[in-house]
Formats: sequence, structure tokens, C-alpha cells
Amino acid sequence: DGGIPIGQQSDPTIPQIDVSRPSVARMYDYYLGGKDNYRVDREAVDRVAEAMPEIRQLAQENRAFLRRAVRYMARQGIRQFIDIGSGLPTVGNTHEIAQEINPDARVVYVDNDPVVLAHGRALLAADDNTAVATADMHSPDQVLEHPQTLKLIDFNEPVGVLMIAMVHFLTVEERSAVMSRLRDALAPGSHLTATHVTTDGKAAEAVAQIEAVYATTPTPIYFRDRAEIGHFFDGFDLVDPGLVTLDVWRPDPEDPAPDATGWLYGAVGRKG
Ligand code: SAH
Repeated sequence: DGGIPIGQQSDPTIPQIDVSRPSVARMYDYYLGGKDNYRVDREAVDRVAEAMPEIRQLAQENRAFLRRAVRYMARQGIRQFIDIGSGLPTVGNTHEIAQEINPDARVVYVDNDPVVLAHGRALLAADDNTAVATADMHSPDQVLEHPQTLKLIDFNEPVGVLMIAMVHFLTVEERSAVMSRLRDALAPGSHLTATHVTTDGKAAEAVAQIEAVYATTPTPIYFRDRAEIGHFFDGFDLVDPGLVTLDVWRPDPEDPAPDATGWLYGAVGRKG
């Protein structure tokens, strides 16, 4: 198929889907073996896979980290989460993991891709404790003041903020404004969890090829070294074992992750 744009009609309630360029949400869906992607996305993924043959393993590794981190935060007593750049629904979504530990846990999924909104609404229709908000991470106020956020999140209580495979879409110039606005909105005891692609130990040509593919999407990506990635957690105290490649972050023998790719760093930080 060439991808029939769902939103060709003039009905404003139907999302407008741009199939002229790859979308990172749909590319990531394809990495995870999902069906919500178009030829333009799959062709972009093929070019990523040339430089990073372990891309599917990376996506699985990232999801396994998300599971461990959400369980960790829920066990710390976090009962409300904002999952920024949540992506398309997959196996083991944040609310499912959190609610296994805190059945009344509330989750706002935030994404700027119209496909995520459409699927998320369908998945979550029956659950009063979850919602999908369309907002842009570059404008934290859009995220924090979205009606769905205000409905589900009590900012006087600790919040778990997830930015999993997200912060590498911010430039260094954007980083401190976005991260400090989010941090300032959070009550003490809140947690920030993030993962970020790295240049450490990787071939410069491979990194350049992947950055070039993402430059053809609305969402350029920036690979960075560990020290640069650490700045996203400024103002948070990293919980053990700190900022590490995902395989090293509290591995769970009962929920084994795929073999390590070394392409992603991750951490959980606590606001004191
Ligand atoms: N967090 C999920 C999905 C990562 S894919 C996981 O780690 O499994 C990245 C997601 O971020 C996509 O769904 C994409 O649509 C979304 N995204 C990218 N830029 C964004 C922005 N500026 N604001 C909100 N969402 C964004």
C-alpha cells in the first residue's frame, strides 16, 4: 500500500495524517512490529536499520526499561503519571503497568501525533483514570495545562513524568527551558524518567546516517554522549544506579530484557 491518508475528508474531528513524510510515532510502531505505519515510514526504518541493525532490539530494550521504571516509581508510591511522547498503544502501556501495583493510578498520555490520539482514545475510552492529550513537548505549558492533565493530575502530589525515547528530540537550546518548566511544576517526591540515544562507543558514520533519516521527519533526533545526556536530569537526584545504559538499570530476572544494544542511556531522577 502507499498509505491512504485517513484524514482526507474535511471532517475536522478526523485527524489529518501526513503521509508525505515519515512520522517517528509510526516508525517506532514499525520497530515494535505494529501495523499503524505507511510505506514512507517503513522506507525510513530500512535506512535506519542499515546503520543500526539492532533497531528492533533497541525498541524492545526501551520498552523493557519503561516497564521496570514505571514499576519502580509505582512502588515508591507514585499514583499519577504524565507519559510525554507516549507513542502508539502497544503491549504493556504505562497505565497497565502502574495499575498492577496501584490499581487507582492515573495516567495522562501526551503526544503530538494525530494517530496516537485516535488509537489512544479508542483504547482508553472505558477507563476514567487515563486520558490522551495532544500537546507539544516544546511547550510544557500545553502539557501541564491541558484539560485532560488538569482533570487527572494533582500537582500538589508527586507525579511520575516519563520522557522515554523523547528528550533526544530536544536541542541543547530547548533543553533547559523545557526541563526546568516541567521540574518547577512538580511537587517534591516527583520522579522524572527518560531515555536518550547515545554516541558513546558508536561509529560516527552510523550516527550521522540515522540523524539524516530523522532530519527528513518533522522530528530531528540528536545523539549525545553521557555527560550531555546527564543535563536533562539537572535538579533531580538520580536513583541508583544513576545514568547508565539500559541493561544496567535494575535488571529484573522475572522480566528479562533483550540483549543490550548500548544505544540508549536511561535514568530515574527524584525531585527532592
Ligand atoms: N515513549 C514511547 C514512544 C517513543 S516514540 C516509548 O519509549 O516507547 C516517540 C514519540 O514521541 C512518538 O509517538 C512521537 O509522536 C512523539 N513526539 C515526538 N515529538 C513530540 C513532541 N514535540 N511533542 C509530543 N510528542 C512528540
